[in-house]
Amino acid sequence: MESQFSAGPWFQQPDNPLVVRDAHDLGIAVMITDSITEDQAILNGRLVAAAPDLLAACERAMQVLDSIPAIADAHGFGETKKENCIICQLLDAIDKAKGGE
Ligand SMILES: [Zn+2]
Repeated sequence: MESQFSAGPWFQQPDNPLVVRDAHDLGIAVMITDSITEDQAILNGRLVAAAPDLLAACERAMQVLDSIPAIADAHGFGETKKENCIICQLLDAIDKAKGGE
């Protein structure tokens, strides 16, 4: 997939935090409130708005952790169960965000 995410940072529209916009003020998402409270939808919007920052932090954390031999070896040699391996958790989150590219 060649396409890129919309430019970050993303933010909640100040006068309507149910709407998330990108760095160019273009719409990213509108939170739906038909089955949850508006407060919960606003919190969901906060999480969506944080997505580019969270992805960048995950990628950086993965690089740093992978440079620590004890952690990298535990991951690389399968010494840590996948559900307890921070590198596997970060890779899964990054793959989820990027669609496994
Ligand atoms: Zn691992």
